[in-house]
Order: sequence, then C-alpha cells, then structure tokens
Amino acid sequence: MDKVIVVGAGISGATIARLFAENGYDVTVIDRRDTIGGNAFDYRNKNGIIVQPYGPHIFHTNSEKVYKFLTKFTDWREYRHKVLAKIRKDKLVPVPFNLNSLHVAFSKKKAERLEEILIAEFGEGARLNVMELKNHPNHEIRDFGEYVYKHIFYIYTMKQWGYKPERLSAEIMGRVPVVLSRNDEYFDDKYQVMPEDGFSMMIANILRHPHIKIKLKTNAATGAYIHEGQIYLRGKPFDGIVVYTGSVDELFEYKHGVLPYRTVKFRFEYKRVVSYQSSAVINYTVSGKQTRVTEFSKFTSEPSSTGTVIVKEIPKKHKKGKNEPYYPIPLEKNIELFNKYKQEAEGCKNLYLLGRLGNYKYINLDQAVENAIELFERITGEEVDIESIRETKIGRAY
Ligand code: UDP
Repeated sequence: MDKVIVVGAGISGATIARLFAENGYDVTVIDRRDTIGGNAFDYRNKNGIIVQPYGPHIFHTNSEKVYKFLTKFTDWREYRHKVLAKIRKDKLVPVPFNLNSLHVAFSKKKAERLEEILIAEFGEGARLNVMELKNHPNHEIRDFGEYVYKHIFYIYTMKQWGYKPERLSAEIMGRVPVVLSRNDEYFDDKYQVMPEDGFSMMIANILRHPHIKIKLKTNAATGAYIHEGQIYLRGKPFDGIVVYTGSVDELFEYKHGVLPYRTVKFRFEYKRVVSYQSSAVINYTVSGKQTRVTEFSKFTSEPSSTGTVIVKEIPKKHKKGKNEPYYPIPLEKNIELFNKYKQEAEGCKNLYLLGRLGNYKYINLDQAVENAIELFERITGEEVDIESIRETKIGRAY
C-alpha cells in the first residue's frame, strides 16, 4: 500500500489523512502535542462547558463541499456568532459595525443623517472596507470612516498585529467589514454551525479510519531528515508522500531566517455566574491589554448553573521555541521569506505543505478543509467524491 505521512493532527492534516485513507493509502499522522485537533482542540470541562484552550474557533462556510465533508463526522448545532465592541466605558456596539452600531454610537439626528448618506452612496446591505470609507471623497463619509477606524480597528489591530491597519493587507481588515444592515451577525456565510460535541470530537472522527495510525507526542524531526531533495526516515530514503502542516522555517532548520508570527497569551478565568457578559465575544477596541474576551458557554447555548469560563486574549510577538505560533503576519517581506522555504519544499520529492502554518496563510477552518481537499486532488489527480466517504460519527474524542 502507498504510504503517507501527515505531520500535524489539526483540521488540515486530519482532512487530507482521511482522504488518503479513503483511497486505500496507508496513513500515519504524527503530532508533537499529546492531543489531536491542533489549535482547534477543545474539551468539555467538569461542568460540561466546551472550552477551546487555543482561543475561539467558530465554524462558518459558504462551501457546500466543506459542509458536506464535515457533516460526515459530526452533528451540528446552529450558532450565529455575534460580537460586541466596547467603544466607551458603558457603550457596546455590534461588530461588524452596522446600522444598529451607528444608532448606539451617535445621536439620533446624526445617526439618521449618516444612515441616509451611506445608503444613498452604497445601497442597503452593502459590506464596506473601513479603509475605503476612510479615503472616501465625501467628507461626511470620510469622517464616519475615521470614526469607525478609530473606535473599532486601530487599537485592536495594533494590539493584535503590532502594526497599523495601513501596513497590513486589505484582506485582513476586509474580514470585518462595515455593514449597512441591521443584522448583528459576525459572519454572513450560508452555513453557520458548531460541531455538536466540539471540534476535537469531529476531528477524532475524521481520523477514525482503519488505514490511519496516529502517533502523538512524536516529533517530526526525530529520525527524519531531508538531504538533497530526498526525505530520509531512520537513515533510509522514504519514497511515500509527506504532507507537512507545521511551520516551514522549522522544517528547514531556519536556514533562511525565522518566519514571524503573532502568538496569543490566553488568560482563562472561571466565574461563579451563569452568564458573564452579554455576548459570546466582546472586543476591546479602544482600551485594555486584551483584544477580546470570549465566554465559551455562549457558543453552545448550554450555560452551566455552576459557573462560566471566559478567556482573555493578549497577543504578542511569537518567540521561536518559547510560545506557539498562531497567526502568520502577511507582510510582503514575510511572504518573500516564506516563498524561499516554499521553493525548498518544492525541491523535495513528494513533500507538500498544507495549513495555516505550512502555507503561512491566515485561513479559517473551512478554508483549511478546502485546501486539504484541493491538495489531495492535486497530488493524486483524483476528484474527491464526498458522497462516497464513509460516515463516522461515533465515540468519544481522544
Ligand atoms: N479587527 C479589528 N477590530 C475588531 C475586529 C477585528 O480591528 O473589532 C481587525 C483586526 O486587525 C483583526 C482582523 O480585523 O485581526 C480580523 O478579525 P477576526 O475577528 O477575523 O480575527 P480572528 O478571529 O481570526 O482572530
């Protein structure tokens, strides 16, 4: 049987492992952590609340294919994510900043005036990039853009990335538009659902296949090395396929330099109340060290009478070997550095990069699944037939 090694048991690694296994390959998934799920790993605490130790992960997608694939491995619960931003001591507004936010932020008269101008210019329901509003020729629209920039984006982005929004790609700011509607939902995707028993359970089910072997607490570097484009395992050339979802600079021993990432310090707190805050996530867009505070029980609509768990996120610079890389920083110079590593990888026979770390790309869960499906199709030349994948929705998470 053809052999595949997948490095990393996160959603990217699990998806591609499953696709190979379904097609008769013999797959080994290794991960240096003692858990599966990568940063989407979660667990139920003793009060039954699903806690996500690597920060909030919320599933949303427009992709029928991704939704159908994952539906083989989990039941879902409807979850429409909502976020509030604290823009003043006692003032919370919906994010994305929308027409409801406008009416909380401004006086009735000013809000009505702005609503009229914005709708006349862009139309009802428009989704706008704050940077475009900020540079708009109409001074009232521009002032409004400045207001939203200052109260929603500037400080949050400085905390999150260490750079002003202008320095970052438009794509990042575009993730959170200004929306000319009264809908307070954070996403506008067709499918907005959470796995019934959490992401770990779903990913465990993706990996639950007779052709998949999982080795946790296993370092990819142990007993493996690359020499002149050939992968060696325990001294012997390995001619199977290797899909690597870790940090690519580490794979090549930082020979071109260290790829920058943002990391996040998570401060978990247990609160003896049923509900701690009025929304699942509150963004601290003008004050505080934290970017946001998440209350996990609000993702599952299962509050516990004994208490609630919250996490405060404090982003900072990633230090190699000292903390976890979470967000690639998509600046041109970083992408150039990544491309050098990508070229190295392309020079290695049967080595493929995948996932947020492997591709140094700020992607969501659904894009990770989508990319894994695409890579599988590219490697094998086979089109994935989702219908034929065996449904696996059993047991407990690892
Ligand atoms: N952002 C912001 N203020 C907000 C929400 C988001 O400035 O209230 C910016 C910030 O730069 C952030 C980016 O938009 O990193 C993307 O936000 P998203 O919620 O998608 O981040 P994630 O959940 O992936 O950390």
